Parts: sequence; C-alpha cells; structure tokens
Amino acid sequence: MSDISDLIAGISRFQQQHYGENPELASALKKRQDPRALLIGCSDSRVDPALLTDCSPGDLFMVRNVANLVPPYEQNSGYHGVSSALEYAVCFLKVAHIIVLGHSGCGGIASLMETAKGKMVGEFIDNWVDIAAPARDKVLAELAERPAEEQARACEKEAILVSLQNLMTFPWIREQVERQQLSLHGWYFNIGTGQVKFYRDETGTFEVLVQRYAAGN
Ligand SMILES: [Zn+2]
Repeated sequence: MSDISDLIAGISRFQQQHYGENPELASALKKRQDPRALLIGCSDSRVDPALLTDCSPGDLFMVRNVANLVPPYEQNSGYHGVSSALEYAVCFLKVAHIIVLGHSGCGGIASLMETAKGKMVGEFIDNWVDIAAPARDKVLAELAERPAEEQARACEKEAILVSLQNLMTFPWIREQVERQQLSLHGWYFNIGTGQVKFYRDETGTFEVLVQRYAAGN
C-alpha cells in the first residue's frame, strides 16, 4: 500500500463498526479495560494478532516487537518497555493468560541466524534478537546439517520457548502461574497456510490449535 487514504477509509469503517453499531461496547471501554489476555507478538505487518483472533477493541493487551521476544527479568535502569507492559497487564489488569505468538518467515529470527555467521544486521536489531540466542544455538547444534530454512523455522519455535522461560523469571508472573491464576501459552502462526499451532508442554511439541477452516480441512 503506497496511499495512506486506504488507512483513513479504514478508520471510518472502524468507527462505524465499533462506535456507530455498538455504542454499548464504546461506553464500557470508555470506563475501563478488562482484556482477556496479554499477547506478545511480532511487529511483522503480516501477523496482526487482533485480525488473527478476530478480536474486538478491549480484548487483547498487546506488546509487539521484533521477533516477539520477552527479555529476562532485570532490575537495571534501562528502558524496559516489554517488562512495563508485563507488569501492567499482570499486576494491575490481572490478565489470566499470556500468549507468545511467533510466526513463520520472521525477519527478526532470520537476523538472529545471520548473527551466528558473524554478520551485523543493524544498529539495534542484533542486540535485541540476541535474547533468543539460546534458541539459535540449540537449533544449530541439533539441526547442524539441515537446510537454513528448516533451521530458521525451528528457531522461530524455539525462540517462543525462550520467551516463555523468560516470562517465568519475573517473580510476580511465576507467583501467579504457580497459583494457577495465570496461564502461559506459546502459539506459532504459519503465514503461508494460516494455520496456528500451540506448544504442548507435556510432549514438547507444537500441535495444531484449531483446524484451518470450519470444514476441518
Ligand atoms: Zn517476526
């Protein structure tokens, strides 16, 4: 899209759908938010969590960044954008679910794979995606002889697990999970097919979350 007028026309449709046709929702949202889940997704334009889950305004509290990563809990004085969002969602909004949504063809993960070859990708990206370096190192060790594409797909999934592990380093997240008041989920979206898989902790595998189409194809 090169013309921004399409985006402006979209605002008009949004206003009609969510304000013109549903004043009750607008009235409720004006007072407070009570999202169903916190979702950590990639900035990738093809992976819009609200579109993917067919959500309404107020349903998802969202963080989007390069490669949908969660950094580990740190107490230094940096600018902790992701950690702030986690804190607000968990400690103040009391969300019951946190979803880490990864996807196929992730440019951030591709950058992470490149850094293993000693290539610099950008001024900020390299250091950011290094959060998932344990995922990359695991994949390169276990799939050393496999094609780069296969390694990248595997790393996209492993990076989700790193983020899930990092979530548990936040003491107030761990506490809520152990009290069974908060559930963590790892989802993986295939851009080419539309399929979404989820991580099953018991088996250590990603399995189909929902059939692609209502007909069950
Ligand atoms: Zn991505």
